[in-house]
Amino acid sequence: MPNGHPHAALVVIIEDELQIRRFVRAALEMEGYVVVESETGKLGLMEVGTRRPDLIVVDLGLPDMDGIDMILDIRSWSNVPILILSARSHETDKVSALDLGADDYLTKPFGVPELMARVRALLRRSIRSCAEDTPIIRFGDVEVDLIQRTVTKNGVVVHLTSIEYRLLMQLVSNAGRVLTHRALLNDVWGPNQTSNIHYLRVYMSSLRHKLEYDPNRPKHILTESGVGYRLVIT
Ligand code: CA
Repeated sequence: MPNGHPHAALVVIIEDELQIRRFVRAALEMEGYVVVESETGKLGLMEVGTRRPDLIVVDLGLPDMDGIDMILDIRSWSNVPILILSARSHETDKVSALDLGADDYLTKPFGVPELMARVRALLRRSIRSCAEDTPIIRFGDVEVDLIQRTVTKNGVVVHLTSIEYRLLMQLVSNAGRVLTHRALLNDVWGPNQTSNIHYLRVYMSSLRHKLEYDPNRPKHILTESGVGYRLVIT
């Protein structure tokens, strides 16, 4: 996607720190994205409302507005992917932001490869959800056929319990994206079980044993410490 291409994805970045804004802008422009910068939350919301970007990058620590309020505001009228930037000291804010509808996060400091991986995954997902669903998902030695509802590893059928299968479906349909403990527990076990994080540990471990090449060094079903899990399918 060359710069200025009529179909180049538009990204709005809302961040008060000039250095980070410039860094993100340079990295995205290098890949052909069109970038609009905002240094305050209020300006950012205006840009998002008028330009209808393909992706929003939001710093959770803005001087004029709580990042959480901003996500609530945007989510009340748009499903645009939201990537949050957070400082290590804002761990709980990060999880709240994800639970309220932000799609992924980066903890400062972060590098260009991490940033681009997140951006690509979020843009790919929004394209995929508009297009026909891909019926077969592959990662590592595993193939998941969403129509036949079968899972194979190296061509051999893997037997999953219904909980394992539902968990895997959540991961697969959100591939590349972090899922919080709360979101996974809610989707698989229901709204009354959202604090039983040990359920997740048990079932993720069993999924890893069935699907990963080396369950102790997973390459696909990854733990996001203190936040949740992420399936990496590349
Ligand atoms: Ca900030």
